[in-house]
Amino acid sequence: MKKQEKINAVYTLLDENSPEVIEFLKAPTIWQLLICIILSSQTTDKQVMKVSEHLFKRFTSLSDFMNSPLDDIKDEIKSIGFYNAKAKNIKETARILCTEFNGEVPLDIDTLTALPGVGRKTANCIIGHAKGEDAVIVDTHFKRVINRLGLTKSSDPQKIEMEIRKLLPPQKTFRFSMTANLFGREICHARGAECEKCYLREFCTV
Ligand code: SF4
Repeated sequence: MKKQEKINAVYTLLDENSPEVIEFLKAPTIWQLLICIILSSQTTDKQVMKVSEHLFKRFTSLSDFMNSPLDDIKDEIKSIGFYNAKAKNIKETARILCTEFNGEVPLDIDTLTALPGVGRKTANCIIGHAKGEDAVIVDTHFKRVINRLGLTKSSDPQKIEMEIRKLLPPQKTFRFSMTANLFGREICHARGAECEKCYLREFCTV
């Protein structure tokens, strides 16, 4: 089966078998989501949700983050790994967004990835959540699922992103990212994949 045919079939099955709305990190605004994602590196989503609840009560705007002492931000997030670096990145990102972008989060991948603590995965995640499309989010779950399904042989996130972008129109990339990711978390686990209940078994290469 050609890759194009395969991804179309996989997309449809993932779409049909997934909830309409998929959210791993919840935040009421895009700037808050950006901060949550910066916090989430090497940390569980659950831990980020726990910390962010109190964090956004204390810092209610980007300018709050920009104008507050770094130690105050550190104090709020110190239960999270790499909190020193993350606090610095959050404060500097807030400063750039306030001073250069009028407090808005730019929805352009090059501008986003120039912000401190923001890599391609984060940038795609922000764009996807804001626009509902045009985002390939290559995290560990997505990478594993896409490899097992034979849709890539690469382990390089940027290469995988480009390969998927060639196979799917922008309107479908974000939904595909989220459904494949959820499938990886719920069925196609890194260890002990639940192949007996896999609805994508006919496409699997492992
Ligand atoms: S058959 Fe197993 S390894 Fe293959 S995609 Fe399904 S859950 Fe993953």
